Amino acid sequence: MASGKFLVPDPSDYEAIAREERRLQALRELEILDTPESESFDRITRMASRLFRTPISAISLTDRDRQWFKSHVGTQGREIIRGGAPCAEVTRSGEVVAIPDLLQDSRFSQCYLAESGIRFYAGAPLTTRDGYVLGAMCVLDTEARSITTEEVSALQDLAAFVMAQIELQRDVGRVEPSSGLPNRYQLAEDLTNLERKAPGEWRVAVLIDLADLRQMNETVSVLGSTYIDTLVKASTSTIQSTLGGKAGLYQVGITSFFLLINESDGNSWSDVIGSLRKQLLAPIVCDGVPVAVEAAYGISPFCVGSSPPHDVLRTVLSAARDAREADIEYAVYSPDSDEANRRRFTVLTNIRKAVEQGGREFNLVYQPRIDLHSGVCTGAEALLRWTHPTLGSVPPGEFIPLVEQTALARPITQWVLANALGQLATWRRAGLDTHASINISARNLEEEDFVLSLQQALQRSTVSPAAIELEFTESALIRHRSRAVERLEQIRSLGVALAIDDFGTGYSSFSYLQKLPATTVKLDRSFMPELAKSQKDQTLVRSMISMAHDLGYRVVAEGVETAEVYTFLKECGCDEVQGYFISRPLPVPAFEAFLRQGRDRDVSSMLTLLQKSAS
Ligand code: C2E
Ligand code: MG
Ligand code: MG
Repeated sequence: MASGKFLVPDPSDYEAIAREERRLQALRELEILDTPESESFDRITRMASRLFRTPISAISLTDRDRQWFKSHVGTQGREIIRGGAPCAEVTRSGEVVAIPDLLQDSRFSQCYLAESGIRFYAGAPLTTRDGYVLGAMCVLDTEARSITTEEVSALQDLAAFVMAQIELQRDVGRVEPSSGLPNRYQLAEDLTNLERKAPGEWRVAVLIDLADLRQMNETVSVLGSTYIDTLVKASTSTIQSTLGGKAGLYQVGITSFFLLINESDGNSWSDVIGSLRKQLLAPIVCDGVPVAVEAAYGISPFCVGSSPPHDVLRTVLSAARDAREADIEYAVYSPDSDEANRRRFTVLTNIRKAVEQGGREFNLVYQPRIDLHSGVCTGAEALLRWTHPTLGSVPPGEFIPLVEQTALARPITQWVLANALGQLATWRRAGLDTHASINISARNLEEEDFVLSLQQALQRSTVSPAAIELEFTESALIRHRSRAVERLEQIRSLGVALAIDDFGTGYSSFSYLQKLPATTVKLDRSFMPELAKSQKDQTLVRSMISMAHDLGYRVVAEGVETAEVYTFLKECGCDEVQGYFISRPLPVPAFEAFLRQGRDRDVSSMLTLLQKSAS
């Protein structure tokens, strides 16, 4: 074996290498290297040259093996080699380096700058908020000269100015103006960095959703949009002071915040949430009005690096949504509900495409309505059907509640209106005069021009306004209480009938009902299954019918599936029925056949025949 000295590197070398790697990382993260020249930096170098009366000045960044100039005055290229450059010495020492004459300084007399004719150099360090030195703000001259202490301070000021500019540029688009907190772009970057720094470690993501979207819309309609600013500002300072630096804090939505908790630092998520809940209980005062904050929390523990950053945000949002929907304060992420959220996402994305393609995947089916007094079919409820090429038939009970949370409610309702009106016009031309009731989304009540577009659709179709009825669910009317009465009055003034759908499920007060200019109430189908057997349901339905009649409404019962229920409703004086007992919702040709049959023989006599054959 060869003998000789085995050289063990000094541990301080390792430290220096690691430090330099971290510094280079900080420089890379600023994403400034090799970017185009920019006036905001050029202004500073021009000012430096003028101030110091030097022909050359530069903002020089120390990369692994080069000095790269973000801005420069008086030099040709944008980079020089790092080895032996005075700027590299500024970066290494983190201090101002001033060399009156390079040729007289043994460290630099042979360097590239000296060889290119430079004699004087002064550079101040460009230091980040985290203490990394990125390079130097420097001034150079082809003649030797001295520098005063005042000039040194001026150079340091310029360096600070450059750093403020660099950090400002980095923060633009990464900070939420309403709270001053880093936003979701910054979060994505921080999570990516975390993958490098702490792979395999566990962290807990927490989402604080300050307000239910619906509740917030209502509050904004009363208190104005400054309410959101007030809410966000007040909550940010409460959260910040409660956390006291125990977790990373981001604003990821208009009224939602993300916390990144490292439990190995001794902060359990349950303690953090416990103290936040206490602090956020106090109402936020907006324009002198105290408004209660109803925060919902989502919690999602995750292993760093095992799923992409956007998944961390998605899972915690899914948990917060679970909490909101279940009306509980917090929910821990569950893969099952995540599956449901994914499905929601797929449905929403595809229905958006279906709308953009002009609705060719949509069609309407018509469920007959029968007048119990005359036994005649008075018309039909138009019900939307959506058949997607791969998802198949998606029931409206699945996609309508999703659509109602988005701006898609508008084009979808427009499509339904236009097609139902078109169909009514076709039937009228074919000698089939009938009525259609059309379901309108809660969200349509918020559209300023809803009534105008309804009027225009009616004018285009030449269908009489009296041939249609618009159905609004009881819960939609309650949710939009402030606008509903005015909107319904405008619709009524066009001569269009109005129905309160799913009546009996929305807990509206009779005094509120009285104010609504509706013409019809549709008893919800949930009352029907037990109606033949349950005395209680019978009493309830009988009194709802009589109360609605007293208020001047026509009463329609939905979901009638049996002869017993049909007969009971008829005896109670209910005006119309709709349900599988009469007919399922029908495609156009089948509904036409139903109508033609009904002209020859009314439904009551059909039913008598049915009952006879059953006994
Ligand atoms: P809805 O307006 O209360 O419509 C009645 C629902 O009850 C329809 O379900 C209908 O098929 C179903 N139904 C009718 N008779 C019976 C019966 O005897 N038994 C039972 N169990 N169900 C019966 P569908 O078509 O699945 O629609 C569900 C809901 O989706 C509708 O409830 C309505 O709120 C909404 N929807 C449907 N089409 C539209 C539309 O064009 N626009 C809007 N905004 N909503 C729609
Ligand atoms: Mg309906
Ligand atoms: Mg209904």
